[in-house]
Amino acid sequence: MIDVHAHLCFEDFGNDKDMVAKRSAEEGMKAVIVGTARLDEGIEALEFCDKYKGFLFPTLGFHPTDGGENYKDVIALIRENKERIVGIGEVGLDFHWESDSSKREKQKEIFLEFIELAKETKLPLLLHTWDAERECFEIVKEHGMKKVIFHCFTGKNELAKEITDEGYYISISTGLLFSKTIRKVARDVPIEQFTLETDAPFLSPNREEDPRNYPWNIKLTAKKMAEIRKVSESEIMEAAAINAIKFFSLPLLTK
Ligand SMILES: [Zn+2]
Repeated sequence: MIDVHAHLCFEDFGNDKDMVAKRSAEEGMKAVIVGTARLDEGIEALEFCDKYKGFLFPTLGFHPTDGGENYKDVIALIRENKERIVGIGEVGLDFHWESDSSKREKQKEIFLEFIELAKETKLPLLLHTWDAERECFEIVKEHGMKKVIFHCFTGKNELAKEITDEGYYISISTGLLFSKTIRKVARDVPIEQFTLETDAPFLSPNREEDPRNYPWNIKLTAKKMAEIRKVSESEIMEAAAINAIKFFSLPLLTK
């Protein structure tokens, strides 16, 4: 059981992040990829993941809506720490929150710099693509990227097929529990080209009870996905873990 995208260093977890890491192991997880989207979050994730070597793995990224020049510091951080991280992300485009065309263009410019960085460092990319799934797909394809995960994919099933035909991966989030669109994607995605993620602390499956999401909640996603595909839960969880290990080349502590 591997969650490929959880923001354990997001402020919502505060002093609880050790508890979350420990409980993730107790819940039977093999690994958690600690995703980041800002410089300070990235710096913290590098340090935090060092405490749980072989279990927590960081990726460094920059949220597309952050704009500005801060991304350059994230690029420098990635270059300095390329041996310590398993991927670049989340990076990409967000046209959901950004409607201004010049700002969208700026997002693209920054995204292209991260693509070049992925080539330079030979690290895989984890993409944020909200309402810009098609644009992101065309860009990574055009630039000959090989290892790409579409994180929290909420695009159409037809596009998901084009994405996986190209050899890229689709990450199914806890959002599956609320979204028909994601359910269709989860039904048809090739078994060797998907991963599971929570995007914790976001996308809590039970907001009234607890506004935060946790890595072990991928079990709920796996259960739902198993129902949809009429296979066993363990089959889904096992496949997602194998895919994650392969995609990120994870040096796991426990096999
Ligand atoms: Zn995220």
